[in-house]
Amino acid sequence: MENKRILLASPHMSDKGFEQEFVKEAFDTNWIAPLGANVNGFEQELADYVHTGYAAALVSGTSAIHMALNAAGVGSGDIVICQSLTFSATANPIIYQGAIPVFVDSDFDTWNMNPSELRKALEKYPNAKAVIVVHLYGLSAELDGILAICQEFGVTLIEDAAESLGTTYKDQYTGTFGKYGIYSFNGNKIITTSGGGMLVSEDVERIQKVRFWSTQARDKVRHYQHSEIGYNYRMSNIVAGIGRGQLKVLDDRIAKKRYIHDFYKQKLKEVTQIHHMPENEHSHPNFWLSAITLDGIAPNYLMDELEKENIESRPIWKPMHLQPVFEKYDFIGSNVGQMLFETGVCLPSDTKMTDEDLERVVTTIKRAISNV
Ligand SMILES: *Cc1c(COP(=O)(O)O)cnc(C)c1O
Repeated sequence: MENKRILLASPHMSDKGFEQEFVKEAFDTNWIAPLGANVNGFEQELADYVHTGYAAALVSGTSAIHMALNAAGVGSGDIVICQSLTFSATANPIIYQGAIPVFVDSDFDTWNMNPSELRKALEKYPNAKAVIVVHLYGLSAELDGILAICQEFGVTLIEDAAESLGTTYKDQYTGTFGKYGIYSFNGNKIITTSGGGMLVSEDVERIQKVRFWSTQARDKVRHYQHSEIGYNYRMSNIVAGIGRGQLKVLDDRIAKKRYIHDFYKQKLKEVTQIHHMPENEHSHPNFWLSAITLDGIAPNYLMDELEKENIESRPIWKPMHLQPVFEKYDFIGSNVGQMLFETGVCLPSDTKMTDEDLERVVTTIKRAISNV
């Protein structure tokens, strides 16, 4: 069938069945729940992969951001500075904590938080408790600048690396620069456990605390006693087994994502209306999604033309300060995030795509643009 559906990004299990081996082991030992060898193994292996100290496996990237805020001591009425151009899951946990988000614009060089806008935000809100920076689509934020400013103002940095597992900035993995980093294993991410997340940190005491909170905060006595508010956020041993298998193919997935990005860049290079994601010398993105911006062509037009050929594509995230639910909060910046949203399209980046599939996407894009 020529017109099979081409997806943006879908789960891609190893062809060697690694995931099933770990899950089978959990069945065989009846370690179905609650914790067990796969959870411990997945935490250790993920921490080793990104060269950090400690990890806590949780039910989602969102819960990991929530626990990072809790660990950073963010509470009711505190200010949290947050990148505006992102998925809502970055910002929602700020509200869960009763804290107040202040949104900061991106820059065109990285598509992520603009360090000079961050400085303005911290000058306006010097008591801010935390900063959440995001590495969108696997592109790294300008971490040197952001870290220096956070240090200067004595504010805790949290990295939302949900989309950037495997991305490096100056040879260090994103997610390991801030006091806390989080990853997501949701179905469309570069590796998936069907759903899941991880919080990483060099601070073993804070990671142990997160494991405690996320298993209902039971005090260490025989009866049910609670001195703190708990959460039911711990990853199951089955899910962690899928993660351990997926981690073995992460490098293959990154290689394929890069191949997809290079393919688009090469094959669309003569299309002057298309600009590709920014690349920086010192960063190696995982290219989770290949995104483009368009000059003088409406993203909706291109997405409709792709859809007619049964090809999935998506707009770039709509900034948080433009969302009805967040528009009452302060925003520091100009219109960079808004322009990326208004001109951007995420192209199919599914690692199961063949060259023929990629060729079909490219042909459709070229035809659509030449017909304008
Ligand atoms: C996917 C994603 C999240 C949320 O992760 P879940 O595992 O789906 O809860 C948070 N932030 C960003 C930037 C994401 O892309």
